Amino acid sequence: MARGNLFVMTGASGVGKGTIRGRLLEYHRMYYSISMTTRPPRVGERNGVDYYFVSKPEFESKIAERGFLEHALYVDDYYGTPREPVEAALSRGQDVLLEIEVQGALQVAEAMPEAILVFIIPPSLSELRRRLLVRGTDSLEKIHKRLKRAEEEIRLAHKFKYVLVNDQLDKAVGEFASIIQAERLKFERM
Ligand code: 5GP
Repeated sequence: MARGNLFVMTGASGVGKGTIRGRLLEYHRMYYSISMTTRPPRVGERNGVDYYFVSKPEFESKIAERGFLEHALYVDDYYGTPREPVEAALSRGQDVLLEIEVQGALQVAEAMPEAILVFIIPPSLSELRRRLLVRGTDSLEKIHKRLKRAEEEIRLAHKFKYVLVNDQLDKAVGEFASIIQAERLKFERM
């Protein structure tokens, strides 16, 4: 059986990755990898659904066991993709979707050159700032750190195969869906 495709969605915080992911998963059968993080849960977030919320020592012991496909330190907290469930889904022939920040996406590209990386950019940095403020999930200090990180991240867009501008949600979702369909139609996938 052919291995599944590994789709990696990346881009700055606030760019709309989570919303695009939600829409894609409504229409495309894929295994969504739930990340592990040391960030505290936000109101309404559930352990094992939004993230696996763990302590720093727990996260660090999983790093030491080589339990992550990729991991990164992002604005004072760790985030990582548990390796085993992703490997298992790909081996079953299932397509997998990761939604991760840019350093982690570059690690996946290095470790798995067959991964399909999609970089989402905001229409502008001022629009990104507005979205993070409206979302209201982070303190002003954290928003500031996320925006600083976003500026660094956007400079890395050229390293990715596909780049989408999320200026209109429907358009960005449609473009991402086209990438999924095109990758699934490749001859070697038959
Ligand atoms: P948030 O705190 O807003 O949920 O996530 C912060 C950033 O971490 C977002 O850009 C999100 O996509 C990214 N992220 C979520 N899970 C992972 C992961 O497993 N690995 C990496 N490298 N980044 C992640």
